[in-house]
Amino acid sequence: MKPTLPVYLNFVQKANIGTELQGNWPISRLKRLSEALLSNEGDVKVELVFDRAGRIPFIEGHLRAELKLKCQRCMQEMAFVVDNRFKLGLVLNEKQMTELPDEYEPYLVKEDNNFLPDILEDELLLSLPLVAMHDFDCSEHLVSNTSDQDNEVGIIEPEEGKKNPFAVLKDLL
Ligand SMILES: [Zn+2]
Repeated sequence: MKPTLPVYLNFVQKANIGTELQGNWPISRLKRLSEALLSNEGDVKVELVFDRAGRIPFIEGHLRAELKLKCQRCMQEMAFVVDNRFKLGLVLNEKQMTELPDEYEPYLVKEDNNFLPDILEDELLLSLPLVAMHDFDCSEHLVSNTSDQDNEVGIIEPEEGKKNPFAVLKDLL
């Protein structure tokens, strides 16, 4: 699925005029996040409001996605639902950053165009658990997991057997 959101935006300008954006962003297009996942299928549902409160331009966001993580106990897939709201205060320098009220996370913007996926990716990475683990006792999977591996070994064996006819052919040549 193609992204239905712009890639580059002037964040401060959008905040100055007041802008709302809604759309989907493919998880596969978020490289750093994809590396932390077992599968990068699916989309992130994105809602963004660009506005300002007095002198402070900000972005209020809502991200929803189902991420596929690898459970660190049974090594199987684990669905992790993200429903994350955030509020970024847009700052141009460190001085503005220190003046920002606590309710905002500071986000250092460039003067011209900013890369929208960076925000989505940063927020999603922050929402990931430190250690991904099923919230039920999944240790039983460990047993079935080992037997899966045995099956794989069983599949490889016939392939090794196929090599033998070649060896025989070589001898004939
Ligand atoms: Zn598990």
